[in-house]
Amino acid sequence: MYTTQPQEYDVVIMGAGFAGVCQARHLMLNIPNIKVALIDPRPEERTDKDMKIGESMIEGAALFVCKELGLYEYMIENHTPKNGLNFHWPKDPAQTSNLDDYYHLWVNRQTDIGSFHMNRAKFERDVLKMNKEMGAVFYNGRVLDVDLTPGDAIKTVKVKVHGEDIELKAKHVIDAAGRKFIIGRKTDNVIFHQPDGGQGPDNLYGLNNGSAWVRVRNIDRKLFHDGYDPTGAATSHYYATNHWFGHGHWLWMIPTDKDPLELSIGVIHHHEVIPANSINSLDKFSAFLKENHKLLYQLINSGELVDFHYLPRLGHNSKTLYSQDNWYVLGDAACIFDAFYSFGTTMIAFATESITEIIRAKLAKEADAETKREAYNRFNLRYVQDVNRLYRYHAKQLGNASIMSWRISFEYTWWFGLHVPLYLGKWHLHLRYVNTYLQHTKRVGNFINHVHDQLSLLGEQGKNIGFLDPYRADQLLNHHSPVSHADTYLENARYEPRRCNIFRNSRQTCLNVAVWYAMFLWKGFGIAGFLSPRSLQYLFLLIALVGYGAFYEIFYLYQTRKLPANSQVAQRNRDVQDYQYRAKLQPWIAEAQ
Ligand SMILES: Cc1cc2nc3c(=O)[nH]c(=O)nc-3n(C[C@H](O)[C@H](O)[C@H](O)COP(=O)(O)OP(=O)(O)OC[C@H]3O[C@@H](n4cnc5c(N)ncnc54)[C@H](O)[C@@H]3O)c2cc1C
Repeated sequence: MYTTQPQEYDVVIMGAGFAGVCQARHLMLNIPNIKVALIDPRPEERTDKDMKIGESMIEGAALFVCKELGLYEYMIENHTPKNGLNFHWPKDPAQTSNLDDYYHLWVNRQTDIGSFHMNRAKFERDVLKMNKEMGAVFYNGRVLDVDLTPGDAIKTVKVKVHGEDIELKAKHVIDAAGRKFIIGRKTDNVIFHQPDGGQGPDNLYGLNNGSAWVRVRNIDRKLFHDGYDPTGAATSHYYATNHWFGHGHWLWMIPTDKDPLELSIGVIHHHEVIPANSINSLDKFSAFLKENHKLLYQLINSGELVDFHYLPRLGHNSKTLYSQDNWYVLGDAACIFDAFYSFGTTMIAFATESITEIIRAKLAKEADAETKREAYNRFNLRYVQDVNRLYRYHAKQLGNASIMSWRISFEYTWWFGLHVPLYLGKWHLHLRYVNTYLQHTKRVGNFINHVHDQLSLLGEQGKNIGFLDPYRADQLLNHHSPVSHADTYLENARYEPRRCNIFRNSRQTCLNVAVWYAMFLWKGFGIAGFLSPRSLQYLFLLIALVGYGAFYEIFYLYQTRKLPANSQVAQRNRDVQDYQYRAKLQPWIAEAQ
């Protein structure tokens, strides 16, 4: 079936999981005639044995899959919708049998950017098939080794295919083979949690987590909710990613199929609170749920169990993401920290677009190709470090409903205010903006660390600062809801590069964060906390960033003054100028003979 003569490709992708199949499609959609090979030992027809984790997408990944990969219809027809994220904390940890035993943050309306849950086996099987139809070559085999030659020298990938050893030649090699770390181990590139290694990013901010999960079919959904909540929400509670909390852990509940009803339910636990040997088997996981989240225990037992998995070490990072030697690490092969907020596939979205642009520029021998590689590598390293920061001190804070509700509102403000427009406007690919981002976000990172410290302090003091609901617009100033956006980039389809006014979004976000922070200081620490030099310093930082945003915006508005919000719409408006209404119909009945 395969020739033993070395085959040469522009890009060889090792691993055809979510990251690998998406990267291949994105390359082929953006670089005409590119030669791509994919390698994966899994059979093309996936079964229950191939069920994978990573089933929920947030706005970044959803826009990537639907808009950038052109899979809107495919997702609607084959996967389940996701109406945002719900959060639940037990009122009393000893009482968890039904929904009334929990405090809730419910999504109360349809979200602005539609998202999905995925049946991963189905997604990977189908997109692999689409890739083959577009011209990618698939090798159903296992990568044995890769020769990472320096610079632009051709690389060799050694593969075992149906018992035979073959070699593939490649200009660029992408490791998307997940936790096998093919390139990571070869280049000593992977960073794991170090025991007693401190709180810095080089130790994953102290993140030390594991995970156990099950898939279950034909569940009795009414045990969770009967779907009737006419005064609470204008959307489904079930078709959301439901997050359940307790001390040192959180659980996801994700609807991964409609027919039959299938749920993915799993826990992320922090080893310092819940050691691996207390949760690493199906029996122990079930017993944990029975005592701590009886509702989920009952839900699982109402259906048929499909699988159980335990992963003792979840988080890791990489030192380099995109090398000057034309190798790239992507997806789980590069980094993952925690499944909270479902950021894995969104990090893949940012990374895939960066990799495509580097490879496009290098194949076209553009003068700034290496500058792009270097800048995108630094940007994505910073970006994933900021994602890693989202889980700092989770072990202490997750179970505290009051603290976590404030933290979620804070994190939502950054995500919807800054990161979604940044992604949508392709600012992560804009060299000058990338440098501006890197320049300012370091100080923002210090501020966020400081907020985490203050949240932990309040938790240790046992303070209740109430509940902040990220979906509502009646708690912060000016009717601001953290999920709303500051600009008209969605309404006016500012989807082409440079169209979305990122500077307006940034300054508005910093202002909203400043309001959040002032309220938080007041509620948590009163006048003394408000007037402490540290707090004032950070409030001034936020106000200064508002000023920077306004300053950059002036240049941006000047430079883009002749750029239409959307060139397709501008063209339509030009075309319509010649339009003349004709009050007539074409005859459709044959005249009588
Ligand atoms: C518990 C948990 C929950 C998560 N939940 C979410 C979530 O809800 N949402 C989200 O966005 N992210 C989530 N993630 C992150 C998630 O793992 C990633 O988003 C995503 O699944 C990574 O996909 P991947 O393609 O990189 O890896 P994988 O899906 O693992 O794919 C790797 C592929 O490489 C292949 N392979 C292995 N060895 C070789 C070899 N030698 N040669 C060739 N191929 C090989 C494998 O067969 C596999 O198909 C979660 C992670 C964990 C651990």
